[in-house]
Amino acid sequence: MTHVLAIINQKGGVAKTTSCVSLGACLAEQGRRTLIVDLDPQANLTMALGLDPENLKWSIADLLDHSQPQPDQNDVLQPTVVSGLDILPADARLTDLERNLHEQLDYEKTLAQVLSVWQRSDNDNGRYYDYILLDCPPSMSALTLLALTAAENVLIPLQCDYFATRGLTNLLEVVEAVQERTNPLLRYYLFVTLFNSRPTISQQILEQLRSHFPRELLNTIIGMDTRLRESIMTGEPVTIFAPKTRASQQYRSLAAELMTLLEKKEASQ
Ligand code: ADP
Ligand code: MG
Repeated sequence: MTHVLAIINQKGGVAKTTSCVSLGACLAEQGRRTLIVDLDPQANLTMALGLDPENLKWSIADLLDHSQPQPDQNDVLQPTVVSGLDILPADARLTDLERNLHEQLDYEKTLAQVLSVWQRSDNDNGRYYDYILLDCPPSMSALTLLALTAAENVLIPLQCDYFATRGLTNLLEVVEAVQERTNPLLRYYLFVTLFNSRPTISQQILEQLRSHFPRELLNTIIGMDTRLRESIMTGEPVTIFAPKTRASQQYRSLAAELMTLLEKKEASQ
């Protein structure tokens, strides 16, 4: 079974893209075939893996746009420096696509249909993934809705500040609306990123999150680590750029936690 996780937060700068690259690399390191998908017109995930969004032959926009001839799906995939980790890159055409998406029939399901090709181990196109991670734009846009419709789980990175927790209420309302309309099995998990333990307020907010979301809040906390910023500029995930740094260890621990949660659920089904 393929686990599809949408990494979502309508706020920018909360480490969605960083977590997508780093978690993807850690899952691949553990032998899980992983695909990461760039759904942000700003194409930060694509750039973080050393690709130039202005020089792509194909991008995810080609697969979602039904008004154009479709490329072979496998031709859009690109390998990365990490063995077992592939990417579906994005480019700026996602912006136009997003504007016109609602004109397509059943548009909410467009991404789910694209991904379904790689979700069965007995498919005849020769590619199958254990995990698919969706890096979403910093807005509640049509592209985010596609991701929520295609996903089995929502993964929400959060900073421990007052505004982040306020925004969470809106985000969870959207998750609920999608559960009611198109995806009743959608689950969500939260994890803390960019954590700085010094201000008392961060500790207080962490405690509040723990008591409000005892099952949904993951145990792993990702602290501040400048190696993450540097790795993005080199086009390598942090686990390759600085394998022993704290951030690499923390993302490995986050990946292990998710694998235990999701694969245990699968084994019990
Ligand atoms: P988003 O995708 O949510 O907009 P990014 O992943 O692009 O956020 O992260 C925003 C900025 O924060 C980037 O410059 C990134 O390198 C940096 N960053 C992310 N996580 C950390 C961390 N744990 N420690 C230090 N810097 C981080
Ligand atoms: Mg981003």
